[in-house]
Amino acid sequence: MAKIYADHAATTQLDPEALAAMMPFLTEEYGNASQLYSLARRPRKALQEARKIIADCIGAEPEEIYFTSGGTESDNWAIKETLLAQRAGTIVTSCIEHHAVLHSCNAVGKLGYNVLQMPAQTDGSVDADWLTKHFPEDCRLVSVMYANNEIGTIQPIRDLARLARDHGVLFHTDAVQAVGHVPIDVGDLGVDLLSASAHKFNGPKGVGFLYIRKGTAMTPYADGGGQENGMRAGTENVAGIVGMATALRKNCESMQEHEEHLMKLEERLLARLREYQLDFLRNGGTGAHIPGNVSLSFREMEGEMMLHRLDLMGICVSTGSACNSTTTELSHVIRAIDVPKDYAYGTIRVSLGHENTEADVDAIAAALKTIGGHTVDPGVR
Ligand code: PLP
Repeated sequence: MAKIYADHAATTQLDPEALAAMMPFLTEEYGNASQLYSLARRPRKALQEARKIIADCIGAEPEEIYFTSGGTESDNWAIKETLLAQRAGTIVTSCIEHHAVLHSCNAVGKLGYNVLQMPAQTDGSVDADWLTKHFPEDCRLVSVMYANNEIGTIQPIRDLARLARDHGVLFHTDAVQAVGHVPIDVGDLGVDLLSASAHKFNGPKGVGFLYIRKGTAMTPYADGGGQENGMRAGTENVAGIVGMATALRKNCESMQEHEEHLMKLEERLLARLREYQLDFLRNGGTGAHIPGNVSLSFREMEGEMMLHRLDLMGICVSTGSACNSTTTELSHVIRAIDVPKDYAYGTIRVSLGHENTEADVDAIAAALKTIGGHTVDPGVR
């Protein structure tokens, strides 16, 4: 049975061109980029080129790009090392962040920093006006994600970053779901720090980057050798970094084409589900969102059961709730946006990628119909 992969917000397939660009650095070009002999020359040059490609893709300078092991490390670095460079105070974040941000905030919370979580609205956005009213006097950092991983909503980052800047406070955005999918220009956004992860945009796993605006006060993430300008020690993952840059450039070049394709697929999926008269809500779909990220809540269904049934039919999606032996836990995001209880437990995330086809979407809708669930009176919608 051919698989239909519809979980691109979890990870994406490695682009063949990215793999081809990586291969020499996994084989004959194995020199350590920090060494002085000729075997180190190509890896060193490849790192320089990758830094420039990535910087160009997000409107940064090459020396503002720091390679990491992925989104989690970039988030940990941005939060912990900006706060540790300042005296204790408050960090503002949102209640719908990825755990890489929420748990990093909790960790600095244990060191005496206050953590203030902005609420989310039912449409899945966070409100810049709320922050205007509640901006803490002792704020040291604001960290709000560019796009939510569970429901795809894009946040008003430019407004939030301006607010932080007006108060003389640093601003970080976890852009792991956005980089390579929507246009990003760090200058235009006005952010000081931005996290990204290669495996979300058809690059390899275990590699990412942190954009750090020149002049931002930070302590090093890892002490040791002088790599990454002395800020993140450790021999570089040259192949991974080259694969990341190749995949990002390619995705940025095809971004508009991908977006049009994905928006059509989304509309088709929703149209099919309505044709089948399934009783569902779409979460976070009213405002700006990441193309292809479709969070659906089906009335009186169990998300985890749906995931397993879809899996048996060869379809990979995620769920917004997880069962343990006694209860079903809703994700913090689905809870925060107040999805009505009779729908919330039946939440799945279908995250389409540019490789998906109309036939894939039709098969997903047909599979959801087979699984069943309530239907609505066609007059109601
Ligand atoms: N931030 C967001 C919004 C994510 O979606 C993810 C991954 O799911 C991460 C951070 C963590 O990224 P990584 O898997 O590269 O550590």
